[in-house]
Amino acid sequence: MHLELRGITKRFGTFTANDSIDMVVEPGQIHAILGENGAGKSTLMNTLYGLYTPEEGEIVIDGVPHVFTGPGDAMNAGIGMVHQHFMLVPVFTVAENIVLGHEPVGRGLIDLKSARAMVRDTAALLGFDLDPDALIEDLPVGVQQRVEIVKALSRNAKLLILDEPTAVLTPQETDELIEIMRRLAQAGTSILFITHKLREIRAVSDAITVIRLGKVVGTASPQASETELASLMVGRSVSLGVDKAPAQPGETVLEVTNLVVRDDNGVAVLNDVSFSVSSGEILAVAGVQGNGQTELTEAILGIEKPTSGSISMGGERLESMGVRARLDSGLAYIPEDRSTDGIVSEFSIVENLVLDRIGAPPVSRGGALDMGFLRENATSLVKEFDVRTTSIDRPVGTLSGGNQQKVVLARELSRPLSLLVASQPTRGVDVGSIEFLHKRIVSERDNGAAVVIVSTELDEVLALGDRIAVMCGGRLVGIVPGGESRDVLGLMMTGMGVDEARVQASTHQTTLSQADELAVAEIHDAPIQDAPIEDSLDESSKDLS
Ligand code: ADP
Ligand code: MG
Repeated sequence: MHLELRGITKRFGTFTANDSIDMVVEPGQIHAILGENGAGKSTLMNTLYGLYTPEEGEIVIDGVPHVFTGPGDAMNAGIGMVHQHFMLVPVFTVAENIVLGHEPVGRGLIDLKSARAMVRDTAALLGFDLDPDALIEDLPVGVQQRVEIVKALSRNAKLLILDEPTAVLTPQETDELIEIMRRLAQAGTSILFITHKLREIRAVSDAITVIRLGKVVGTASPQASETELASLMVGRSVSLGVDKAPAQPGETVLEVTNLVVRDDNGVAVLNDVSFSVSSGEILAVAGVQGNGQTELTEAILGIEKPTSGSISMGGERLESMGVRARLDSGLAYIPEDRSTDGIVSEFSIVENLVLDRIGAPPVSRGGALDMGFLRENATSLVKEFDVRTTSIDRPVGTLSGGNQQKVVLARELSRPLSLLVASQPTRGVDVGSIEFLHKRIVSERDNGAAVVIVSTELDEVLALGDRIAVMCGGRLVGIVPGGESRDVLGLMMTGMGVDEARVQASTHQTTLSQADELAVAEIHDAPIQDAPIEDSLDESSKDLS
């Protein structure tokens, strides 16, 4: 399929999420769309898939302009989409889900038998096995994603949209997806691949369109360096990675021993987990989301009740302490989901910045809030953490996700702390601010805090961890030194022990780690280019290639 988007503009109220977007996708091309969180990528894809009607612009397929009034129209025109959250029915089989995808319109209907055959054939063509009779709920996430791909192809997709498909995958699964994408492209399917991960883009794409604040700001060649791509994405030069001195671990601060947490059905979602973290070091916890990390951090905070085992902080047992007491004795906590645990949306920035200190000096004096202190506190933190807002009195809920996250971090890092537990600390935050937040976390370490970072982003784990703990299926698979290879970590994320993972990784290198080496080679071959991206980029598209 040859696809051309001409001047696509999509507004939500007065807000322009897509501003006159032009782009062309060639047949059989893997075309990446790179952009930060909130840049407008999903909006553009949802428009292309018929979920939104654009205010302006045209979708031209093989020379013919189309108007989509719903996904059905897009599908009929040969466009398929795999959403970040899969749309499969868990209690149905693979084949049943494929059949479900076909609207019962006479001759278009396919039966279960042909669906089974179709699943097998397509899977074989794309180089993997897929049992048509397996129940969706029994399949790993990576395999469910393949079912979505097969389902889209069963409806004759000639162009496949993959919106952040690797967010839920291990590095090895990502590698397998890349292989599938290549085979699809070879067979002539065009692919629109959405991601904010630079390494993946460089590994797989034929062409790259960069979107910033709803506009196309440029195209880049897959040979462009990660630094160049990041700069284009953010609009100014950024340095990737954190400079940090080796850790100087002191006394043990956090001690977790044989911790078990069971869910309502009695299943151990956290299974016999033991580790300790010292003052002056960062333990990064890696793993695909949903492998017990949430339960671990919530048990440390005290909102999840362990079935057995113990947690102590600074030698004191935490089990008998409430959440408030734990926070008061030096625990700083960045929750995984800021909208439920981190902020009160309707409260102002001023109030959110002192949420867990209300009732005690300096926030309150003589039973009343010290508004002078509150405003000064907010003014200086907003400046320091670069919270982008028109006023400190705005309700936090009206800020962008990245800025809300900065408010949470600013609050938690601005009170005395001996232990920092942070889940997904930079989720939704722009690349430029990630750099600053990582530096701040490292400086807490250097000031003597013990730090636990939980992140599903391997880049973040590698940037921050002095040691890395890997979790899978509620267990702590192992703890390795900070510099461990991506391949080893990826294998451990599937539950494989350290030793076996190291042996396997030395024999099978993933595409992504090869892309990594390519990047390293580049750094050695050429002086690293950190040239500022010119301001003119905002007005006119630039070709980096
Ligand atoms: P991306 O996929 O690049 O992270 P999105 O396309 O999801 O970005 O969002 C782009 C912008 O549009 C964001 O600022 C987001 O808040 C806003 N937005 C997205 N969907 C809606 C909606 N349904 N209503 C209002 N605003 C929206
Ligand atoms: Mg998106």
